[in-house]
Parts: sequence; C-alpha cells; structure tokens
Amino acid sequence: MNPRHVLILGGTGEARRLAETLVQEGELRVTLSLAGRTASPLMQAGDVRRGGFGGAEGLARYIRKNGIGILLDATHPFAARISENAARAAKRAAVPLVSLERPPWHAVEGDHWIEAGNTAEAAKLLGEEPRTVFLAIGRQELAPFAARPQHSYIVRSVDPVEPAAAPANARFIHERGPFDEAAERALLENNGVEIVVAKNSGGDATYGKIAAARSLGLPIVMVRRPRPPASGAVATVEEAMERIRHLACLPAERGE
Ligand code: NAP
Repeated sequence: MNPRHVLILGGTGEARRLAETLVQEGELRVTLSLAGRTASPLMQAGDVRRGGFGGAEGLARYIRKNGIGILLDATHPFAARISENAARAAKRAAVPLVSLERPPWHAVEGDHWIEAGNTAEAAKLLGEEPRTVFLAIGRQELAPFAARPQHSYIVRSVDPVEPAAAPANARFIHERGPFDEAAERALLENNGVEIVVAKNSGGDATYGKIAAARSLGLPIVMVRRPRPPASGAVATVEEAMERIRHLACLPAERGE
C-alpha cells in the first residue's frame, strides 16, 4: 500500500477541484474514479478510471491491487450506494477513508419548501391539479413524474433523457451548471413555472434556482438526502486537503 496514492471517488465539482489541486502540487499520485454516467464528462486531472467496481468487495479488491493508500469519497450527497461501499471497502482493505460531504441547504425567510423523502413522494406532493413543474433532479429518477401526466414539465439534465423514462408533456433542456440566479429566474418566468422540484444537493453551483424561486414566490418540493452524513465527514475541499496531507504525512501547509 502506498500512502501517497489517493483514490478519489468523484462525479462532483469538489472531486475535480481536489484532483486538480493534488496533481498541481505533485506530491501524491491521484486516481479519479467516475461512474461513467455522463457521455462527455468535463476534463479531470490525474489518472481517470470509469465504471463501477462491483460493490464494496470489488472496490476493496481495486484498492489492494492498485496499492491505494487513501480513499477519498467526494461523490454527490445523493449517491448513497457508492458512499456505503466506500465505507465498507475502506474497512476491508484497511485504508483510511476521507468523506467529503457538502452541507445541505436550509430554507431561509421567503422560501416555501415542501419537504419530500424521495422523488416518488415529491411527485405525489405536486397534487392532482395540472401545474407547470421545473424538474431539476437530473435524468435518473423521472419515472414517478412520467406517471403523473396531468402536469407539464421542464426537465433539465446534462445528458439526454432516455425516451422510455421521459414524461409525455415535457420540454427538455440539456445544460451543465453552474447556474446563476438571474438565468434561473428567466428560465422560471419564461416557461411559466409554478413549482420547482429539487434535490437538497447543497453548494453554490445549483443554488441559483433556490434563490430565483424565492424571489418569484414559487414553492419548491425539496427532496431530502438519502442518508445522514458519514461520521467525521469534512465539508469543504480545503478541509479534505488538510486531512489528506495529514494522512500522507505531508507538511500541513504548502508555501505559495
Ligand atoms: P450510486 O447510486 O451511489 O451508485 C451506484 C453504483 O454506481 C455504485 O454501486 C457503483 O457501482 C457505481 N458508482 C457510483 N459512483 C461511482 C464512482 N465515482 N466511481 C465508480 N463507480 C461509481 O450513485 P449515483 O447516484 O448513480 O451517482 C453516480 C455518479 O454520479 C457518482 O459518481 C456521483 O458522484 C455522480 N452524481 C450523482 C448525482 C445524484 O443526484 N445521484 C448528482 C451529480 C453527480 P459498483 O457497485 O459496481 O462499484
């Protein structure tokens, strides 16, 4: 095992920034792992591998075989399975795990949030009356909305939605964040959106729609995270860097 070889489980902006910073510093070997869902992912630093490992056991095998010394879980807060696998694999392979979990958003004055436990519940909460709905939840969990054809939908995702999963009465927007408040406000207004469905992903890059809905007085069905934060998780890229440097026995701060 090489304490200076870091495996980053990615698919987020934080993972990309961590890989970039570590590669620039040049003191650690970095492998970045992507699930392979996006057809044209952004350029990423370090050695990049794509696709699943085959569960926790497969990930543990990968760690041992490739001499990984530190496992960094910087996956999306809604990617619950890979994070569970990471926790189990780190134990099995006896490597330290650093979990980076960006804090969730909290409603502030002027927000009208209706909390949902999952996307199926979110679809039910839209009610029976036809409404124009902005679905900002990606493309993987559209089935519960397709089953509610009384509503019309604006669906935004990076990659095109599989036709079989698409709601009938929908307009599709293919865009990658970040999205700022002014552009989100224009999107909501121009499409006559009456309600937004969002996942509580946290972070700045996709907060624009939350602020825009607030300024227009629109309700948001906010899907809660699928699991509580990992114990000892760090909240920022900077904290994750500090943890990694400590585990790799590098000096705490690098001079500029
Ligand atoms: P998930 O449900 O937690 O994971 C499903 C399976 O996908 C895992 O068991 C694993 O397969 C594979 N996998 C997931 N992330 C991986 C990674 N970084 N590297 C290699 N394999 C990975 O994950 P998900 O919700 O489908 O998300 C997939 C990816 O998209 C993640 O990397 C996540 O960071 C990113 N993402 C997700 C969301 C979201 O809303 N869920 C939003 C933005 C980005 P094996 O068991 O075979 O190893």
